[in-house]
Amino acid sequence: MENCLFCKIIDKQIPSKLIYEDADIFVFHDINPAAEVHFLLIPKEHIESMLELTDKHQELMGKMMVKANKLAIEHGLTKGYKTQVNTGKNGGQEVFHLHIHVFGNRG
Ligand code: AMP
Ligand code: ZN
Repeated sequence: MENCLFCKIIDKQIPSKLIYEDADIFVFHDINPAAEVHFLLIPKEHIESMLELTDKHQELMGKMMVKANKLAIEHGLTKGYKTQVNTGKNGGQEVFHLHIHVFGNRG
């Protein structure tokens, strides 16, 4: 998708601090972290927001949540963390490529 910041990050036209990548998912550190650890999981498919989800996305979204937990633990968030998905204009979404925030402190 042209002019999508996160598609450009997936294509590596814009640099990011990569954490994990496979055929379906791309994970990188948030540029403006809200906690000691803050990363974003995005699908490689350009899906604007949760508002676009259909039944065909069930496996992808499940895969992203399981990967979110695995990477959170690997980053030391073993006592817990927050997840957040801002959806649409009224949900405070700023980048219109679906993303799951994972953030927290190791403490
Ligand atoms: P949201 O408000 O849920 O759309 O959040 C967008 C998130 O993307 C914010 O937390 C930003 O800090 C983050 N962000 C914006 N540009 C970049 C970038 N180039 N690299 C990494 N994270 C970014
Ligand atoms: Zn995109």
